[in-house]
Amino acid sequence: MPPKKVIIIGAGLSGLSAASYLQMNGFNTEIFEMHSSPGGLCTSWKRKDYMIDGCIHFMIGSTESESTYPFWNGLIDMKKLDFVYSDQHCSVINGDNTINFYSDVDKLEQELLQKAPEDKKQIQWLIKGIRKFLKIKFPVEKPVEVMNLMDKLKAGIMILPFSIKMINALKISNKQFAGKLKNPYLRKAFKMIFVGELHLFSTMLIFVWRHNRQMGYPIGGAVKISTLMESNYLKLGGKITYNAKVSEIITENNRAKGIVLEDGQIHAADIVVSAADGRSTVYDLLHGKFRDKHIIERYEGSLFETIDKTLYVSIGVNKDFSKEDHKIYFFLKKPIRIDPKTILDYLDLTHYCYDPTAAPRGKTLFTLMPEALDWEYWKALRDNDIAEYNKQKERIASSIIEALDEHYGDIKKNVEMFDVATPATYIRYTGNWTGGQISWKAKKEITGKSSTWKIKGLENFYMTGQWTGVSGGLNHVVMMGNHVAQIICKDEKMTFSFNQK
Ligand SMILES: Cc1cc2nc3c(=O)[nH]c(=O)nc-3n(C[C@H](O)[C@H](O)[C@H](O)COP(=O)(O)OP(=O)(O)OC[C@H]3O[C@@H](n4cnc5c(N)ncnc54)[C@H](O)[C@@H]3O)c2cc1C
Repeated sequence: MPPKKVIIIGAGLSGLSAASYLQMNGFNTEIFEMHSSPGGLCTSWKRKDYMIDGCIHFMIGSTESESTYPFWNGLIDMKKLDFVYSDQHCSVINGDNTINFYSDVDKLEQELLQKAPEDKKQIQWLIKGIRKFLKIKFPVEKPVEVMNLMDKLKAGIMILPFSIKMINALKISNKQFAGKLKNPYLRKAFKMIFVGELHLFSTMLIFVWRHNRQMGYPIGGAVKISTLMESNYLKLGGKITYNAKVSEIITENNRAKGIVLEDGQIHAADIVVSAADGRSTVYDLLHGKFRDKHIIERYEGSLFETIDKTLYVSIGVNKDFSKEDHKIYFFLKKPIRIDPKTILDYLDLTHYCYDPTAAPRGKTLFTLMPEALDWEYWKALRDNDIAEYNKQKERIASSIIEALDEHYGDIKKNVEMFDVATPATYIRYTGNWTGGQISWKAKKEITGKSSTWKIKGLENFYMTGQWTGVSGGLNHVVMMGNHVAQIICKDEKMTFSFNQK
């Protein structure tokens, strides 16, 4: 029997991962990608002398001790990548009062106790949690859908020692934790850095990964990672067609049969996997004909919320900032209006001086991610009035440059490049429906919800990527690409292997 043909929609990291693991397991795979290059949200773009990393601030699973490392290492030779590990997650500057969120847990504890002694009880509770989780390993080797009794037992044993502390940290949101802090600077800092509705466990894990050096920045950034994954897939014998937007998934007798491209081309397949935006997969490509209770809960109810949107502002400066903290938050003297729903009173600023591919020697690439809550405003403006859209982007960039000049001095005259991406940019280039950086807000209310790998009532069809789980993130979607391949192998009564067959 010839190998089964699998069509994958989307060459983001989840699509590349799924296609590679399926190809390794003997399927004949082909990816159709609407954009002209791989990576989806994990991408970089050149502006003048600067290479803007439009994605990676940190890559979880950069070292072997982290649970998701094997999913990366199955696709990229991880030992060949250079990772930078920062001594601090960020610092928050409030006039003369700076709080450093150190990567090292002992230094973090000292710093927080020194800056906010009145919050000793809460700080020690947080730090105790971080220390507890330093040794955690997640049982993620297999998705729960393919686990047998023994696997489930092993998974339970792995998690058991951490379970009480984990349940407690999952029950409380960042916002609730911040609300318990008495020190106004620490409370404000906490609210700025960590998304309020996310559970505190997610914040503890950030410090676990920082302390353990399991979350690094790869030199070369997003474009390096996505092109390495693309070339690995092509070496495995896979095929990618770019500039090929899928407009429909063909179904017959409740089975997926192939796809139709925007230009009318039809491609038949035994199995179709969508690694593209979840909402458009269900409601546009499948015309909303297949909706089970899990899909309805996600896309038609209020329990699942999409993540708050941001702009992505990049500024190239002819000056060296390598001695400065790599990521800071600071308050604005004059608030900046971003859109009808967002007025900012602080900025977060990252520099990439540790990556020689980001800017020429002696120069600095800065990126900022100011909140832009009104994604519909940005989309409508881009669609209906491009001149005004560009004017608004310039206005915001000028206000930010002005604020950086006030903060550091000597910036304005050294600016060589600026670039502003909006939610409309992400919608245009990646099809993600609300133009956010990731999919859902990983709120405590959706913790433990199962992934929507399949839709009940439709055979030979699967989904993967950031809309299928409860959240996104690079290591997570690379793992999900592997997991959907395992599920397909199980359905096809094949033994899944991590290595090429
Ligand atoms: C500014 C920013 C910063 C981020 N920072 C980090 C970080 O530091 N660390 C981290 O881990 N994660 C980060 N993320 C999140 C991470 O990038 C995403 O969660 C992840 O890349 C999502 O991968 P995906 O494959 O699921 O989806 P996508 O990357 O959205 O891929 C989907 C692909 O499908 C294609 N597609 C869509 N519709 C169609 C169609 N109809 N036909 C054909 N192709 C189609 C798209 O063009 C795209 O290539 C960041 C994201 C952004 C935007």
